Amino acid sequence: MVESIRRTTRREREQLIAAAGWNLFDLKAEDVTIDLLTDSGTGAMSQEQWASMMRGDESYAGSRSFGRLQESVRDVFGFEHVLPVHQGRAAEHLYFGMLLEEGGIVVSNGHFDTTRAHVEITGTEAIDLPCRENSDPRTLAPFKGNIDLERLGLLLSGPDGMRVRALVMTLTNNTGGGQPVSMANLAAASRMAREHGIPVVLDIARFAENSWFVKEREQGWATKSVAEIALATMAHGDVALMSAKKDGLVNIGGLVLTRDALLHERLGQRSIVFEGFPTYGGLAGRDIDALATGLREVLDEQYLSYRVGQVAHMADRIEAAGVPTLRPAGGHAVYVDAGSLLSHIPPSQFPAQALGCALYVEGGVRGVEIGSNMMGRDPITGENRHPDIELLRLAVPRRTYTHTQLETVADALAGIALRPEKVSGLDMTYEAPVLRHFTAKFRPLTTARKH
Ligand SMILES: *Cc1c(COP(=O)(O)O)cnc(C)c1O
Repeated sequence: MVESIRRTTRREREQLIAAAGWNLFDLKAEDVTIDLLTDSGTGAMSQEQWASMMRGDESYAGSRSFGRLQESVRDVFGFEHVLPVHQGRAAEHLYFGMLLEEGGIVVSNGHFDTTRAHVEITGTEAIDLPCRENSDPRTLAPFKGNIDLERLGLLLSGPDGMRVRALVMTLTNNTGGGQPVSMANLAAASRMAREHGIPVVLDIARFAENSWFVKEREQGWATKSVAEIALATMAHGDVALMSAKKDGLVNIGGLVLTRDALLHERLGQRSIVFEGFPTYGGLAGRDIDALATGLREVLDEQYLSYRVGQVAHMADRIEAAGVPTLRPAGGHAVYVDAGSLLSHIPPSQFPAQALGCALYVEGGVRGVEIGSNMMGRDPITGENRHPDIELLRLAVPRRTYTHTQLETVADALAGIALRPEKVSGLDMTYEAPVLRHFTAKFRPLTTARKH
């Protein structure tokens, strides 16, 4: 599909961002020139996937399209049971809503924001234990998405160990910068959890990108195909939850994958209440069919090499302009270190949110804040939480933009980097109790208002 892109003037963009309350989610997509808000469901489908859309079987129960999905899931993931759902957070709702009750702990290399929300609304504590290299944005470690095995061991064998209900391994680690997890780290963490009788839940939104990094960077895997690596990855999980809007290469959909027939049956009963009959789970047959095709296509190594290479190229160009990014580049996004670039703005004034707005005004580019705005408040103390690094994420939709278009993003950032002090901090004027970053409103703090 070819789509025309509207260009706006700087003057227009200044008015549009003010009208949106300095929240990029409140802009109209047509007012955005290069939309890097998310790589979720925003990619283009292939001709084979469009052919799948045409042959989608819309039967309420037991459709042919569901049969094709089952085959893809067994071939690509090796999981026996599959429940389609309408997107990733629906998978989280079905599984965590059943597994968790008040007082438990879920431990992870990095909870994605919706995962954290689904854990916390049950009264469960969500603990992130990212590896040490993860907190240094400049270290060029190959697997900065890893979990800290030492701290995981201490938690599991310590006084709180009895309260741990699940280990969640997010592949790649989105909140931690789209950084991959090594097979060795995943295997070790999984072994530790299983020894304590704790289920290992894989959040596999970007399983193909993670597998590509394992092939590229981890000793012993270079000669294996990405398909083989993906299968080996899945063997370390008891359950897998997927937002198919990422490496499913579709615009909508999610998966709950299990090995245990009884667990599958219980989750299927919940699906009937919340999503739909277990063979369609809130999706049209055509969407399920396109997903069955997308799961196979995403293992194409030529595609993966292009995709990961495109993101790395944009990151290099941004770095060359003197704008610090999280190194090395993640699989699906470049994370700009907004806290360093705008070091005059304290975390309480949302530097990454401010940079996101400035980038929109500068180049019509839309990114998303992954910093103090997204972190929200501590559910117990009500205090604002601040991450180690204030990031602006520029997520690249799959099979959508050209290298040249992404270079214009780097050039807009270069423009801001010439005079970063011109960007002012933000004051939050409205926030919702959960997932506040989607709807929060701000106003810019002029220099005069600072104290
Ligand atoms: C996108 C995503 C989710 C949530 O999926 P949705 O389809 O947006 O509901 C969960 N985990 C990770 C790692 C994700 O990237």
